[in-house]
Order: sequence, then C-alpha cells, then structure tokens
Amino acid sequence: MKKIMVVEDESIVRLDIVEMLKSANYDVVSAVSNGEKAIEATAERMPDLIIMDIKMPKLNGLKASKIISKKYDIPILILSAYSQSEFVNEAKQSNIVGYIVKPIAEAQLLPAVEIALSQSNRMNALKQEVTQSYKQIENRKLIERAKGLIMQRLSISEEAAYQRLRKLSMDNQIEIEKVAMKVIKQLES
Ligand SMILES: [Mg+2]
Repeated sequence: MKKIMVVEDESIVRLDIVEMLKSANYDVVSAVSNGEKAIEATAERMPDLIIMDIKMPKLNGLKASKIISKKYDIPILILSAYSQSEFVNEAKQSNIVGYIVKPIAEAQLLPAVEIALSQSNRMNALKQEVTQSYKQIENRKLIERAKGLIMQRLSISEEAAYQRLRKLSMDNQIEIEKVAMKVIKQLES
C-alpha cells in the first residue's frame, strides 16, 4: 500500500481528501494542517507521496515543498485554488509533480495521485539504472588501469594481465574491481 501524507489547513477539505484516499485503498500515514508540521511528519513517516495545499498558516505549501525537496526525494502534488502560472517558477525548485485545482473531486484527485506515483516509480528506476551504468563504467576504468600497470611491471600481454587479475579475484573471492583497486594502490605507490 502506498503511503500518502495530506497537508491542508482547512479541516473539512483535509478530511474529505483523506476519506477519498482511504476509500481508494491508500495508506494515509499523516494528515496535518501546515507546512511546519508537514516537514516534521515527512521525517517521521516517510510517505511515498505528499498532497500539499499552498495557502496555509505558519509555513505555506510552496516553502514547505522546497524545504522537503532539499532533503527527501518524495513527489509532491500541490492543491491550489489558483492557476499554475502563479507558482510554476517556485514549483520548479521542488519535487512538485503536479497540481490539482480546488474544489477537489474524487474523479480528479485519484488519477492525479496514480500518475504522480507511477511517475516517481519510473524516475526512481531510471536513477537506479543511471547509477548502475555509471558504476560499471568506473569499474571498467579501474580494471583497465590495473591491467596497464601489470602489463608494464611484468612485461606481459594485455590478455595475460587480465588473466592475472581474474585469477586473483577468483582465488581470493573478491570482486575483480576491488582487486584492480588494490593492484593500483600497490603499483602506483
Ligand atoms: Mg489553505
């Protein structure tokens, strides 16, 4: 079940949204009335999605979104009584993935929530892929460098140098990139 937090100062609207989400089988982990409480509750409950009103006492929704986005990678859906143009610039600096214009109807809220959640899933998958391929490239560079050093030191072929690395890796049951790192440390110092 996806965890959702609702931030809205008008209690009737807040309850309404919470009910809509619950009846659609979402886990509403927190429902608070201002930006300050939203920041606290985010740290405590780590929701998958935040639904955030703009106009609220103490700390408004845009400022709270900015603060939360600096620390956490949580998508935020803005609730607004205004048109997009008024907050589009500030929204860019936060993880705001969409907005719903008040008054909130179930037919509008639930699809927006679904889209926001699936977008964030896709983004996370993409980020993971990028991190992984970056790591692969870094590992390949390490292996190449270690190979070069072994070739130079022992005057052997590239293939033979690679076999040495591989053997060290298998004999010691250490990943080949870690062996490469050790070799580099030893031969470069
Ligand atoms: Mg409000």
